[in-house]
Order: sequence, then C-alpha cells, then structure tokens
Amino acid sequence: MSDLTDMAIDKKATLTYVQLMKEDLAVFRLVPEDGIIPDYETGQFITLGMPIPSEDNKLIRRAYSIASHPENKKFIELVIRWVRKPLPGRVTTALFNSGEGSEVSWIPPTGTALQISEKLADGSKDNRRIVCVSHGQVKQEGLNNF
Ligand SMILES: Cc1cc2nc3c(=O)[nH]c(=O)nc-3n(C[C@H](O)[C@H](O)[C@H](O)COP(=O)(O)OP(=O)(O)OC[C@H]3O[C@@H](n4cnc5c(N)ncnc54)[C@H](O)[C@@H]3O)c2cc1C
Repeated sequence: MSDLTDMAIDKKATLTYVQLMKEDLAVFRLVPEDGIIPDYETGQFITLGMPIPSEDNKLIRRAYSIASHPENKKFIELVIRWVRKPLPGRVTTALFNSGEGSEVSWIPPTGTALQISEKLADGSKDNRRIVCVSHGQVKQEGLNNF
C-alpha cells in the first residue's frame, strides 16, 4: 500500500522565526512561498519535510500540530521538541540545525482527530472562544523562571 504523504504535493515555505525556548524546545514560524496561509481548524496539523543529508538528501516528513490561531494569516506557528534519544530524530535534528531564512517543504493542514467540537449539547453552534493557558518551570543554577 502506498503512503498517503507520497501522493501529497509538497509545497515550499520559509522559516521566518525560530525561537529557542530551552535547549530542546523551539517555536518555529513559517510562511508559505505564495504568502497565503490556508484556512484550517484548531487541532489540525501540517506535515513538514526536511532533506536529510545522511540519507542522500531524501525528504523525510513529520506531522506537527499548528500552535497559531486560525485567524492569524501572517504565519503558521509550530512548537517542536528536538528528539535526541536514543538517537537524534531525523527531522527535528534537521530543523534545530536550520534557522531563520531556511527553506522547508510542507503539506497543508489536515487531521480531524484532535478538533474541538463547535456544537452545544442541543446541536446549536457554540460561539464561545476558548483560551488555553499553561505554565511551566525552568530550573537553572539558582534561578527559577515561571
Ligand atoms: C498528529 C501529530 C502531531 C504532532 N505534533 C507535534 C508537535 O506539535 N510538536 C512536536 O515536537 N512533535 C509533534 N509530533 C511528533 C513528530 O511528528 C515527530 O514524530 C517527532 O518530531 C520526531 O521526528 P524525528 O524525525 O525527529 O524523529 P525520528 O527520526 O522519527 O525518530 C523517532 C524516534 O525513534 C528513535 N530512533 C530513530 N532511529 C532509530 C534507530 N535506528 N534505532 C533506535 N531508535 C531510533 C529516535 O531516537 C526517536 O526517539 C506530532 C506527531 C503527530 C502524529
């Protein structure tokens, strides 16, 4: 059986912003080559493709959840953890070795498994806006950042 992603057409995009949050966690923003951010729904993901030098620059693709708001038409934001154990992950290592201005391949948003229901119990549309807030703690020598 063929892989579905093999049939999808890879598009090009540019990483316009890379911000390391900690050594193995970063925010990546990308802007499609044509500048158009496609419509998507909260909970969907895009598929990023990176050429892997140790594999004859074969394009390897991985799914990443979209972290930016669907109303944002300036960029697509992703929050990605660099997989390093037991061996360096192929796509995340390529991403963490890249930087602002780098070109990436991508496949537009898809996925229905993680979407939020927009219907109330009576079937009518739920127009409430959901704001998600979280926090974490980073411990460095003698320094706590909340
Ligand atoms: C719907 C969806 C959404 C996702 N969203 C996000 C997201 O928002 N953010 C995010 O960070 N991730 C997300 N992921 C995970 C992401 O798709 C990748 O799986 C992840 O980034 C690792 O990819 P990689 O190519 O770097 O690692 P891979 O190269 O695929 O490696 C995966 C694991 O296998 C191990 N491994 C690789 N080769 C070997 C080997 N020869 N022997 C032993 N072990 C080996 C690696 O050490 C690693 O632990 C999502 C996944 C899905 C399915």
